[in-house]
Amino acid sequence: VGKIIDTVETVSGLRKKVTAWRRSSEKVVLVPTMGALHEGHLSLVETAKNVGDRTVVSIFVNPTQFAPNEDFDSYPRDHQRDLQKLAALDVDLVFMPARSEVYPDDFSTRVIVSGLSEGLCGASRPHFFGGVATVVAKLFNQCRPDAAIFGEKDYQQLLVIRRMARDLDMNVEVLGGSIVREADGVAMSSRNAYLSADERAKAPELFRTISNMADNLARGAAIGTQIEAGRTRLEEAGFRVDYLEVRDGETLSPVTRSARPPARVFGAAFLGKTRLIDNVPVPALS
Ligand code: AMP
Repeated sequence: VGKIIDTVETVSGLRKKVTAWRRSSEKVVLVPTMGALHEGHLSLVETAKNVGDRTVVSIFVNPTQFAPNEDFDSYPRDHQRDLQKLAALDVDLVFMPARSEVYPDDFSTRVIVSGLSEGLCGASRPHFFGGVATVVAKLFNQCRPDAAIFGEKDYQQLLVIRRMARDLDMNVEVLGGSIVREADGVAMSSRNAYLSADERAKAPELFRTISNMADNLARGAAIGTQIEAGRTRLEEAGFRVDYLEVRDGETLSPVTRSARPPARVFGAAFLGKTRLIDNVPVPALS
């Protein structure tokens, strides 16, 4: 209460602020979000403050990453509370553009990162990473940050953005932030708000299942068997499994023989209409 936070709604307003900071050699770090902020987002902001001099948070529910049948209209929006949370963290600037500021009527460009975007979430949401890469490319061009932070909760997204920045010479350092979880292990997500009480009670089983798989894999268990067992366990707990896979944490290539670090277990599963995703590293043998 009482803290004032600086907000801008236009690209020109954003540029004016950031240009002044860059002129005085301050390191600018961007944290892109879709709002409905929780502790996961706020931990990225803390990291941004630690690695840079100025922190910019963007809040924009990006229509191009939602398919027509997805939850764009019902996606939670709460600007007032978001701004209070960011003010408490002393964020330097919040960029909250209107849709028309980002996508004029004749907008015609799409950024596609092939390969990395194709499996996992890209298989069931084929439009998704094109929308994400496009809006993040725009944010990078609008803000020209020195670095940007993305959560490992959306691990594939982090790698897609890192590759895009490298491939297109964007000169933005793309950093990952570790996953923030509720006390029962559920990865924090704005979409958890969609869960009924009954679904929320079932939700921890996703993290438990992939963690258990990762531990078994570290001890040498066969990948195929672990995936089958994990799938059965999730189905018995009331999930509809979208995918359950073991992939390399750097390249996202499927891991088929022995799962060693940096292998990770990736899971996506529905509880009712809500799709939850999570991932964990396969631990090193101690
Ligand atoms: P979103 O608003 O869902 O698009 O997320 C914005 C950023 O916050 C993305 O980089 C996400 O990966 C990150 N994020 C979301 N949930 C978490 C979490 N539980 N822990 C860490 N980062 C997260």
